[in-house]
Amino acid sequence: MKRVKFVAGNWKMNTTRASAVALAKAIAKGAVAGVTLGVAPPFVYIDAVGQALAGSPVLLGAQDVYPQPNGAFTGEISVEMLKDLGVAFCLTGHSERRHILLESSDLVAAKARAVYAGGLTLIHCVGEKIEQRDAGQTLAVVQAQLDEIRGGIEGPKRLVTAYEPVWAIGTGRNATDAQAQEVHAFIRESITRMWNRDFADRVRIQYGGSMKPDNARGLLSQGDVDGGLIGGASLKADSFLAIAAAAL
Ligand code: PEP
Repeated sequence: MKRVKFVAGNWKMNTTRASAVALAKAIAKGAVAGVTLGVAPPFVYIDAVGQALAGSPVLLGAQDVYPQPNGAFTGEISVEMLKDLGVAFCLTGHSERRHILLESSDLVAAKARAVYAGGLTLIHCVGEKIEQRDAGQTLAVVQAQLDEIRGGIEGPKRLVTAYEPVWAIGTGRNATDAQAQEVHAFIRESITRMWNRDFADRVRIQYGGSMKPDNARGLLSQGDVDGGLIGGASLKADSFLAIAAAAL
């Protein structure tokens, strides 16, 4: 099954308004056909970045969302608000939200349901901590996080999962090609059990964790690696576009 690879940049809490717009314009200018590209700026720059991307195929994304449609939730942002700004995809379950912001699995699951039900593409992140890997718990941890998306997903088109080993995020230590492929194959098998084979064949599974231009080709050539979720290397247009080129 040929899946179009999806390379998404997670800008986290970086950039200024001016640098976000400049980065978006440079990525839009360098975007090539054959790979889906997306960027997830900080909330406050989504509107400006959306305008900078107008007319380009680069998808606009959000790093987070709150599951309720509106109301007294100080500081939070709803799916409808994201859609109002032209957002096409939204992350859930990123390890920094799980482990630094202490989001519970129930909250992550509610966010994932809201993103999908609202019509956005869901990028649901899963991945183990180093002590869990060392204890042989990687697949059990990943399965428990996949269970968060059990309810409410009707088709594979707007579902993306991202395997992001926590020990590889922002550390410069990426998973080896074989380590990534092993977990990606497990995720696809698990999705087959949760839905069916045809569904699983269509779902894109990104790898995230210190993906850079020099390791991207090896990772992206694994059979079940369908793109990348890129942190640090997405903050420079040339490195992000080099990763995108490695996905072709
Ligand atoms: C991420 O945070 O999703 C990520 C993969 O970060 P980095 O590429 O910097 O490891």
